[in-house]
Amino acid sequence: MKRSVLTLALLLALFVSTVPVLAKAPTGFESGVSTSELQQAYADGTIHILIVPGHEPMYGGAVYQGVYERELTVEISNKLSQLLEQNPHYEVTVARTGDAWNPSLNNYFDRNMKSIKKFVDTQKKLMKKLVRKGTVEERGEEEQVDHATAPDDVALRLYGINKWANENDVDLVLSLHINDAPDHGEDTPSAYAGFAAYVPDPQYGNAGPSRDIAEAIVPRLSALNAVSTLPGEGDGVVEDQELIAIGSYGTLLVPSVLLEYGYITEPKFTNTEVRKTVADDYAYQTYLGLQDFFKAPISTKYPTLALPYQFAGTPAVGSSSPAVYSLQAGLHTLGFYPAATSSSAIATHTPSLALCSVSGLMNGCTIDAIKAFQKKNSLEQTGALGPKTRTLLNSLIGI
Ligand SMILES: [Zn+2]
Repeated sequence: MKRSVLTLALLLALFVSTVPVLAKAPTGFESGVSTSELQQAYADGTIHILIVPGHEPMYGGAVYQGVYERELTVEISNKLSQLLEQNPHYEVTVARTGDAWNPSLNNYFDRNMKSIKKFVDTQKKLMKKLVRKGTVEERGEEEQVDHATAPDDVALRLYGINKWANENDVDLVLSLHINDAPDHGEDTPSAYAGFAAYVPDPQYGNAGPSRDIAEAIVPRLSALNAVSTLPGEGDGVVEDQELIAIGSYGTLLVPSVLLEYGYITEPKFTNTEVRKTVADDYAYQTYLGLQDFFKAPISTKYPTLALPYQFAGTPAVGSSSPAVYSLQAGLHTLGFYPAATSSSAIATHTPSLALCSVSGLMNGCTIDAIKAFQKKNSLEQTGALGPKTRTLLNSLIGI
C-alpha cells in the first residue's frame, strides 16, 4: 500500500473509531478480547480474576453425607486466590466467603436489581432476535448436558455477577463447583466420577479465550484426576449455551470457565481427613493451568502439593489420610497407580483414575498398586507400606 493511501486509511480508521455515534456497546455476541490480547495484558501488567465459589453463601449446591459443595468451593477458591496473589500479575476478587457475598457485589445486588433484570431481558430479546434472523443457532436439549436450574433470585444474582464483571474491568471469571449427579441416593454414591471444564458456546463473544484457558487447565487436572465419566463430559472441555456463569444470552463479555472438579459422592470429597489436601490440590492444578495459558509456566516435579512426602508409618487398610493421598499420588507419578492388575482395571481393560482415584483411602486400588511397585522392585508383594517399601519410596519421592 502507498504511503498516502495508508495515511488516509489510518486517518479514516481513527475518525471512525472516535465518532461516538458509530461506537456501539458490545452485546456479548461479537468477539471480545482475544487469547493473544489477554496473554499480552498479563505480560504487560495485571490480570483481574474474579473467582466465584459455586452457589450462594448458606444455601444451594450439591450435598452428600454432610459434605456441602458450597463449602468446598470456598476452600478451593481461597487457596487459589492465595496462590494467585503471590504473583504480581494478578489482582483477585473472590465473590463470596462461606457466609457472605463480597461487599462490592453485595452492594451491587442491593442497588441494581432492577437494572440487572432489565439487562437480562434485553439480552434474552437480542438472542431471540438473532436466532430468528438465523445469525445464532439455539442448541437443542439433546445437544447439551442437563443442569439443575437456579431459582429466580439466585439466577438474577448470577447475571448480576456477569454485569458487575463487565463493568469492573474483570479480565477472567472462574466459577468453581463440585458436580452433582441425579443418580445418587442419600447413602449410595453416583456412578459418575471426574472433572469437566465448561466453556461458553462458540457463538458467544467470550468463547475463544475461554476455551483456550480451559484447554490449558484440563491437562494439569488430568495429571492426577479422571476426566468425567458422565456422557457428554468425556472430552474434559464442554461447550454450553445455557449456563449463566459462563455467559448465557451473551451476558458476559469477559472470558469465563466453569470448573466442575468432580462428583460430590467421590471418596476424595467424603473423606474429611483429606479434604484440605484435595481442595489445595485442585487450586494448585488450576493455578498451574492458568500459568500455562499465560505463557509463564511453573516448572514442577509433581502435579500435586502432596509431593514430595516422607512416609513414616504403615497405613491401615480402610484408613484415610493425607499420607495415603501422597502415597497414591506418588505411585501414580511413578506409573504404578492405578495398577494394571487392580480389579477395576481388569473389568474395564484399562487402569482408570475414575475407578481408582487419588482419594486418600487405603483401599484395594492402593494395595494393588503397592504390590505392583513391590513386584517391579523385587520386594515381597505384601501390598502394605512396610519398612523396605517405605525406604525405597522415600528415596524416590521423599523430601
Ligand atoms: Zn455446583
